[in-house]
Amino acid sequence: MQSDQALIAGLIEACREAIAQNAEHLCELDSAIGDGDHGTNMRRGCDAVCAERQNLSGLSFPEAVEKIGITLVMNIGGAAGPLYGTLLMEIGRELRDRDKTSDFATAFERAVDAVARRGRSRSGDKTLLDVLYPIHAELTRRAALADIAERARLSADRTAPMRAMRGRAAYLGDRSIGHVDPGASSCALLTAAICRYLGEHRAA
Ligand SMILES: [Mg+2]
Repeated sequence: MQSDQALIAGLIEACREAIAQNAEHLCELDSAIGDGDHGTNMRRGCDAVCAERQNLSGLSFPEAVEKIGITLVMNIGGAAGPLYGTLLMEIGRELRDRDKTSDFATAFERAVDAVARRGRSRSGDKTLLDVLYPIHAELTRRAALADIAERARLSADRTAPMRAMRGRAAYLGDRSIGHVDPGASSCALLTAAICRYLGEHRAA
């Protein structure tokens, strides 16, 4: 099994690559119902985390996750920055505050609830929560990594028929219907990248 440091470095690179490869697509999705900058913002956030790698290397896994969250808040911007930042900061804090045997699913659940509070959003509002809650459901049933990634992908697709209730897209009302939410899409892409990396580098 990899050290915490190698795991963090590998996951950061996997996520940066996934966003870099799909940044244009994410901007296109955001152009349809927002201001077209989601890919650019996510890329900036990932690049900032990569630049921090040296500082992260001395930290435990929970500490590193929390610090990555802080970096994302400061660098992604837009609506997504605080949401992704909250998710990671809360996962880090949850994992740090309990002993190693506690399950990741519970830490993830609390973090997703914090994201919902931060965004004053709920399931069905056409946000990244519509991917995060299904991921939690998969974690709870201890699904295989490939199944988690697939559920995330399908859940992002399912935001298309939803009417946006939060953020810039909400101003479009019914015109937001028919477009996949960019935040849900980036969330699914990152989940796929993380699951693929863990599948290749960590024993189940
Ligand atoms: Mg935007």
